[in-house]
This record gives sequence, C-alpha cells and structure tokens, in this order.
Amino acid sequence: MNMQEYISQAEQDLLHTYNRFQIVLDRGEGVHLYDIEGREYLDFVSGIAVFALGYHYPGYDEALKDQIDKLIHTSNYYYNVPAIEAARKIKAASGMDRVFFTNSGAEAVEGALKAARKYAYTRDGHTDHEIIAMEHSFHGRTFGALSVTGNAHYREAFEPMIGNIRFAQLNDYDSVLSRVTDRTCAIILETVQGEGGLIPAEAEFLRKIRKLCDEKDILLILDEIQCGMGRTGHMYAWQKYGVKPDIMTTAKALGCGVPVGAFLMTERVGQNSLVAGDHGTTYGGNPLACAAVSRVLDIYESDGIVGHVKEVAPYLESKLDELVSRFDFIIERRGTGLMQGLKCDRPVGDIINRAVSSGLILINAGADIIRFVPPLIIEKEHVDRMIDILTKALEEV
Ligand SMILES: *Cc1c(COP(=O)(O)O)cnc(C)c1O
Repeated sequence: MNMQEYISQAEQDLLHTYNRFQIVLDRGEGVHLYDIEGREYLDFVSGIAVFALGYHYPGYDEALKDQIDKLIHTSNYYYNVPAIEAARKIKAASGMDRVFFTNSGAEAVEGALKAARKYAYTRDGHTDHEIIAMEHSFHGRTFGALSVTGNAHYREAFEPMIGNIRFAQLNDYDSVLSRVTDRTCAIILETVQGEGGLIPAEAEFLRKIRKLCDEKDILLILDEIQCGMGRTGHMYAWQKYGVKPDIMTTAKALGCGVPVGAFLMTERVGQNSLVAGDHGTTYGGNPLACAAVSRVLDIYESDGIVGHVKEVAPYLESKLDELVSRFDFIIERRGTGLMQGLKCDRPVGDIINRAVSSGLILINAGADIIRFVPPLIIEKEHVDRMIDILTKALEEV
C-alpha cells in the first residue's frame, strides 16, 4: 500500500480523535524521521517531548533488547530488578523519596491526586477536600487529570468532573490565595505550562505558593510531565527555583519512547498517604519500561544531556528572537530551554502544515502558538536547518 492508501484505511478503522498530518511515519534516526516513502523530516517535536535522546541513541535499544530476552512483565506483586534500579536512579535525579511507576502521564496525575486526598483524609478523617488548579493548565485526559485541566473546552462534554476543584491564575498569587479554604488539600500546577502556551511559573509566585502550602499543610503537586527530564536545562524545572514539591509527576521523556510515567513524593507524604491496597496498576513499572527508564537516566548522567540543553538552548532562543523581530504577525517568543513557543496573531495551522510538507516536523500549542520541543541532543546546525525551513513557511503565508 502507498501512503495515501494507508491513510484512507486508518480513517476507516481508527477512532478519529486526532486531525492527523497526512504522513505515515516509518522509522527514526538521530533527530530525523522518515515516512514510508523514504522522505526525511527534521524532528522538532520528538513525539511531543518524548524522544529526548532522539532515535536509536547508542545503548538505548540494547537495554530494551536485553530486557526483552529476559522478562517483559511481572505483576507488581513481585519485585523486579529494573524497577528497583530505575527507582533508585530517579530518586537521585529528582531528590524525591518515594516513587510509583505508571503507564502514562495522565495516570501519574491520577496517582498524585489520590495521594493528596489520602494524605488529607488520613490527617482529618473526612473526605470533602478541595484541590486548586490553574487556568490554561493541561494534566491529561482521564477524569481526574481532566478535572484539574484548566481548559473548559476539553471538559465540557464530559461533565461532571470530580468535585471540589477550584481554578486560579498561574503567576497570580492573590488569585490562588482567594481560593484557599480550610478544606484545601493540594495545589497542582505545571512548573512550565506546556499545552497552555509555554508559560513558566515565576520564581516569586512559586516561592509564595510553597510558603502558603507549608503554613497550611497543603500539598504542592508539580506536574513535570512535559517540562521535566532536562528540557529546561535542569533535570526537573522546579530545581532551578529551589522550590521542592511534595508530590511531582513525570512521564513523556522518562522512558524516551517506552510508555512510562511516575509520581514521586517526599517521605513525609509517603508515610501518610497511600498504603497497600490503596492504589495499583497492572503494567506500571514493568521490567521493560523500567529497563528503559534506567538506561535513559544512565545516559543523561554519563553524556551530560542536561548540560547540553543549557549550551544549545540560548542559540535556539536567539534564532527564534530574530524571527520575532522579522515577522510582524509573530507577537512574542515564550518558554525556556528546549521548550519554546512563538505566539502569533493568527492560527498557525497553515504555517505548520507548510513546514511539515517541507520536511520539518513542528506542532502547535493552542491555535496560535508554534511549539518547539525537539530532542535534547540537537546541535546548532539542526537549529539553523529548522530556521531555514520555518522562515520559508513564514514568508509564504
Ligand atoms: C502530556 C501531558 C500530560 C498527560 O500525559 P499523557 O501521557 O498523555 O497521559 C500531563 N501533564 C502534562 C504537563 C503534559 O504535558
């Protein structure tokens, strides 16, 4: 079958929950993807912030192949060595104390919310606790995660959500404070908002929230699913601020392609929330997924992946800034590290389609922002090539 035939077949069989780009991808190599007709694409999306190490990074495939030959899955009723090693390494990378592995980001958020409610229930002996979340946030598509996602359009058809969620404005401390009651058990936010428009939390805002949480025994949940794993030039974005969460979520780049996420907590929360029988997952933390996590964290350490982000990100920023000054319809650059956006005064779908047709994979964030979440291993030459192709697309519209 040719590409068009595959696409027609897909549109008959797959539920149409995505307006897909009209390409069928076949394989990847480094920072490039290839479709089934052999066309090459420079990848500045990396499966939405997943392929931090690009495709076939030395040592990564081998770790998976070795584990496939041993054991892919065991139930969580038994111990397995990859999970034990992955847990130790992610604790070291994050400074958190206890980890629960999941299959996805949304599932990590679900676990974080349950841990927070259980913590408050254990302390107070009642269950009507409230959670504060941010407008324009994105935490996933399952009911709990959707309930704290600050995008009414995503929630509307699926109401009612889980109860007792209040929305506040990111970087507006007073709006958060005004939603705190004596039943508030958690505040959840992305350290850098991803889908909502590449907006970092401000240092002062985060510090005040941390202080508020300490005073009132409210748990701070930081969602690092997109901004974590080195993308901002810090292993976890909150590490830059010196504001430590009580619970954090991670996924996307955690397994660099293998579906895996995690929620982590401090020892204090761990000792006072979820206990045996409270939470579980069949696949989460299985040996194959954890072999990936374990090798990914080894590679980050041995090959200085986070340091590389610090080196290359300012170059990407300066090149994007040049586009802002050159094109009137680009309003501003947003974001940090290798998590950047160009906010435009118009929908960006046409620009992105043109880029993809010219061999550059890009994605939007909302209707009017072009998002850049490339593999963390990109070099300046890839930035230059990306800018060349994008500039042509911008000139055409
Ligand atoms: C992608 C994302 C999620 C959801 O992760 P899934 O693996 O798609 O369930 C949650 N939070 C943030 C910040 C994300 O970017």
